[in-house]
Amino acid sequence: MKVLLLGSGGREHALAWKLKQSPKLKELIIAPGNAGTAELGKNVDLNPNDFDAVKKVAIDNQIDMLIVGPEEPLVRGVKDFFLNDPELASIPVIGPGKRGAQLEGSKEFAKEFMANYGIPTAKYKTVTPENLEKGLAFLDEMKAPYVLKADGLAAGKGVLIIDDIDEAKAELKTMLEGKFGDASKKVVIEEFLSGIELSVFVLTDGSGYVVLPEAKDYKRIGEGDTGLNTGGMGAVSPVPFADEKFMNKVHKKIIFPTIQGLQSEEIPYKGFIFIGLIKVGEEPYVIEYNVRMGDPETEVVMPRVKNDLLELFEATAAKRLKEHTIEIDDQAVTTVMMVAGGYPEAYEKGKEMTGFDQVKDGMAFHAGTKIQDGKVVTNGGRVIALSSFGKDFSEALEKSYKNAEVINFEGKYFRKDIGFDL
Ligand code: ATP
Repeated sequence: MKVLLLGSGGREHALAWKLKQSPKLKELIIAPGNAGTAELGKNVDLNPNDFDAVKKVAIDNQIDMLIVGPEEPLVRGVKDFFLNDPELASIPVIGPGKRGAQLEGSKEFAKEFMANYGIPTAKYKTVTPENLEKGLAFLDEMKAPYVLKADGLAAGKGVLIIDDIDEAKAELKTMLEGKFGDASKKVVIEEFLSGIELSVFVLTDGSGYVVLPEAKDYKRIGEGDTGLNTGGMGAVSPVPFADEKFMNKVHKKIIFPTIQGLQSEEIPYKGFIFIGLIKVGEEPYVIEYNVRMGDPETEVVMPRVKNDLLELFEATAAKRLKEHTIEIDDQAVTTVMMVAGGYPEAYEKGKEMTGFDQVKDGMAFHAGTKIQDGKVVTNGGRVIALSSFGKDFSEALEKSYKNAEVINFEGKYFRKDIGFDL
């Protein structure tokens, strides 16, 4: 098969690495890709949100499947674009259409969906400039801290958690006035849930599904989960507190009703569902849905999947996923993300990277890198994710950290406490 994979992060490098292991893969194109994916296939420079450019690459290369890494092309409707174009309609797309992608693209849509199908989640109210008074009154009914979420996509920055009621009210107004552009013209106010978070990943064809290994990521820049939020500083899989009893509840109360809900709403869905969960006491609640894999979670999930990923994608496209069972490696996998100095605030790009030849017993998944004048240089805030297997976390982490020591670039930083709370 000839596969076109959209995206350029660690997630896409990990997906490309896994696809490359499939005997069914004939050709892999990654668009735009990074210095890591360039070693696994052909990188083609394009903007994944420019669907005409995607079409050109798809046609020129006669691809047999499109796999969409990031959320934005999905929320903008790349799947619908393919379906509605006679030249592209027969090419299967891994990723939902515009309606299904609303699970991530609109917090309000996701909350209504959960309410309609009895899926446990925090209490909420949607506020628009027209019903601001109701929103303020809802805040008065809630206890601190107050959770305010921009309805639309805001690059992971649209959620504010505020202790002071007056500040929360003022922020609600600023958000509605466009603090996050159109994304916050509607705001979802949520009850604050206190517990420990984890992520569960499902690949579905709309009725059949397989549950991939769960993972826990570490979002804050500082050790002990302090400081600013980032795209993710590391991840581990499996998650020790996600034992069989808990995962059975996740299955029964969340995964199953989610798939049933999609069917009842007649939303065709072929792709990943990433469910952000919080464990409150012994009960799982949904914090958010994403309609694609997570980054850096993919860098620990894919290494633990033993199945041929392309075979699973083919089954997804053909609606035959029911015939497949997932096989998961029992080993632990950890990943440590190396970032550019200054990230998640201002940082520099273009720093030369060295030490790749000394990476041992693990995978170096490139997140923000590119090749410039024959050298690998940094090209983003999150630069490279070092994933390793181990019989347990400590063994896997030890290897990830050894590899983090050998890769060098000016200003490099990584958290040294991934998995500290497990
Ligand atoms: P992401 O970057 O994960 O895509 P997002 O902008 O889509 O984030 P959410 O995942 O909904 O937003 O929220 C971001 C973070 O805020 C969550 O990972 C969680 O830590 C915290 N959070 C969100 N909702 C709640 C809640 N109801 N109670 C407690 N914490 C919450």
